[in-house]
Amino acid sequence: MKIVDINVHPLRTPLETPFAFSQGWVRSRSATLVEVVTDEGITGWGEAFAQGLEPPQIAAAVIESALKPLLMNEDPLATEVLWHRMYHATRDYGRKGSVTAGISAIDIALWDIAGQAYGVPVHRLLGGAFRTRVQAYATGFYRITGQGEASRLGEEAIAHFEAGFRAMKVKLGYGLADDLQVMKEVGRSLAGRGVTLMVDTNHAYGVADAIRLGYGLADYDLRWYEEPVAPEHIGGYREVRDRLPMPIAGGENEHTLYGFRDFLGAGAVDIAQPDLGSVGGFSACRHVIALAQAHGVQINPHVWGSAIAQAASLQLIAAVPVAHHNVFAEEPIFEYDRSSHPFRQLLVREPVTQQGGWIDIPQRPGLGVEVDRDVIEKYRIR
Ligand code: CA
Repeated sequence: MKIVDINVHPLRTPLETPFAFSQGWVRSRSATLVEVVTDEGITGWGEAFAQGLEPPQIAAAVIESALKPLLMNEDPLATEVLWHRMYHATRDYGRKGSVTAGISAIDIALWDIAGQAYGVPVHRLLGGAFRTRVQAYATGFYRITGQGEASRLGEEAIAHFEAGFRAMKVKLGYGLADDLQVMKEVGRSLAGRGVTLMVDTNHAYGVADAIRLGYGLADYDLRWYEEPVAPEHIGGYREVRDRLPMPIAGGENEHTLYGFRDFLGAGAVDIAQPDLGSVGGFSACRHVIALAQAHGVQINPHVWGSAIAQAASLQLIAAVPVAHHNVFAEEPIFEYDRSSHPFRQLLVREPVTQQGGWIDIPQRPGLGVEVDRDVIEKYRIR
């Protein structure tokens, strides 16, 4: 089998209701999809992570102009070989960000091809499933107007609860006083309902304020506190982690085994959150999982993409070991973004759906996605 074509599809659609996380206003949702075509009739799908503020054309250009020429006529089953070829060829201008997102999209598609070629879901190729279903947590609590939305966010917590979620992640990072007010309202709404909470500031603060916020949240029994400081500030992560009682999480803005070597080696986090669509795909996740096990750090993947990224991330999370074994060990949980994203439900025939807060790991070959090309044509950036 050999690769005979690679098609890249940058998609975008404006949102009816723009929303903010701590780093800016998200006015449209986008995705960079890639389709790797073989001479044996098997096509693999992949997706580059497109953060809310990131133009999807960047990763598309990386794939089209830098990666595609490296892969034509090659054996798609040589996933590890091709990963290193892509990384080495882009090292001098890549290593992070949209370049590794482009590598990720290709790598995901190659594993999709391999799963289809061998007739097994990708998690089987990764060594098997530690779990056949995964608990989903709701990511939400974005802002629509800015500060002062605590009471609306308290009501949003009830909506997630009524939709079945028993774990939720609250977006913070809009000023300490506003953050604490939001948590008070969310906590009041959920009192006595047995819901696990996480918080995520998307690196809104420096070390001092990140620690002050953590002190203010000490009573919420948080499962984790995510991205307390900027991703480059590894020493700051360590300082925050040393000073606060709750587990510290981060890693959605870190890339490859090399980035995670420094991040984990510095003792930055208790929980590492590589995003399959930007860390470097399944191949890089395998490297990072091994590193994390060696450092006693739990992997809990970050997920914010379209239906393809969700399907791929479900295959990954099935194959993530627990870092701290015991008979009642805490299992990784699946990030289920509840913000508006038209490509999550429309793009594939069987989109990811949660029931009672749980998702079954799909058992179809590869990623198990059947893509609706009309949706791609409709939203493609021309
Ligand atoms: Ca996050």
